Amino acid sequence: MAESALKLADGREVSLEEMRGFLKEAAQEYPGLRELRLDLELIGMVKLTYLCLTLWERLHGARAGGAKVVGKFPANPPDLYYGCGVIPADPFVHAMAYQVFTGDHSLTEEGRAELSPEACAWQAAANAAIRKGMVPLDAFYPFIGPWCTNTPYNCENLLEVLPDAHFLDQPFFPHREGKEENALDYMVKEIQAFAAQMERLTGKRTDMEEMRRAIRTGNALRQKMRRLKEYLKLEAVPFSALDFVFAGLLTDDWVADPMASWDVLDTICQEVGERAAQGERGKGIQEDSARIFFCGITTCDLGVYNLLEDLGGTLVGLECIWNIFREDVAEEGDPYVGLARRDLSIPFTQPMGDRSAVIVDLVREWGVEGVIFDCAYGCNYISKTARYVCDVIKEELGLPILILDTDLPNEHRKALEEKIEGFLEIVRSSRMRA
Ligand code: SF4
Repeated sequence: MAESALKLADGREVSLEEMRGFLKEAAQEYPGLRELRLDLELIGMVKLTYLCLTLWERLHGARAGGAKVVGKFPANPPDLYYGCGVIPADPFVHAMAYQVFTGDHSLTEEGRAELSPEACAWQAAANAAIRKGMVPLDAFYPFIGPWCTNTPYNCENLLEVLPDAHFLDQPFFPHREGKEENALDYMVKEIQAFAAQMERLTGKRTDMEEMRRAIRTGNALRQKMRRLKEYLKLEAVPFSALDFVFAGLLTDDWVADPMASWDVLDTICQEVGERAAQGERGKGIQEDSARIFFCGITTCDLGVYNLLEDLGGTLVGLECIWNIFREDVAEEGDPYVGLARRDLSIPFTQPMGDRSAVIVDLVREWGVEGVIFDCAYGCNYISKTARYVCDVIKEELGLPILILDTDLPNEHRKALEEKIEGFLEIVRSSRMRA
């Protein structure tokens, strides 16, 4: 039976009843909590939503107690930040969650006015949330995946309000023959520069034992997400699409509380495991749903994952979020080398042929019947790779594919609905022909 109370890093213990009462009240302020289908029958999802909605307040509290909070990009390993004695905070994911819950997209509009009308909504919302002090940061120090063309520009723009803004630069195609050693060496030096900057910020030396402890915690969390992913392979998928996406995205920065994050994922694993043992499907998943894999970048229009299920599909895998959890960091040897290797293993940094081969393997492994490639508006590099990746999948596996363009939550809902509905019909008719 899942443990119901949640122990927080600040010493408080919140009962399930208190969390449910908090969410009931929050539903007045956050229409998204009423409109989105999150499975709040799962205790783990109640804990996760509670942690998400209290994150900024807890960060303010931690700073008031002397902690330093540093902004990171999704997929940057929280292990490194905690190992350096600072709390990582992901303004991209949490500013978007705020917009989805409130139904108010003004953060994106304000951020686009600062950055560019063509900035992706993730970057724009993060920019505005940092400028307004909603995400309280002492420094902003994301790793820049070479696939994300928007982050360096955002970093430069934020210097105006946050003088301690830097970025850790990752090489492209680090596993090309003849380049591997240089790429690793470059990345390790970038991580050392990050640690030196964190020492200046905290006034403390980085303790390598602390770093190893943080890496072990990070691996334990990643393993939990990998366990959840295994459940998506079942014929009766026991975990709904939006819940899976939330579990992956919202724990990306460990919601300012590593042990509470571990508790959330552990609780969800237990509950979903019990459902799987009973052959129960996740909330909203219909019998005999079409099994869909999502490529590209996770859409900001998170309601699309509910829509997919309403129209008779089920999510059985994702490329983007999966990149965050697929590899552990080596627990032996130099922690900086382990962290660098893990980051360089992210398939988005690889040539398109290598990345497509990874996707084809995943699509085979998950028993996928159709693929949706999401081109988040403003995500230039990933969108430009859509055609290539989709052609490889079609050639290798002959599956139906849909390329979608999405931007703000609930935008162009009717058109999206028609596209996904038509696509699922094609998936079902190819199933009948097979
Ligand atoms: S959607 Fe693309 S451009 Fe925007 S933050 Fe993500 S990777 Fe970067």
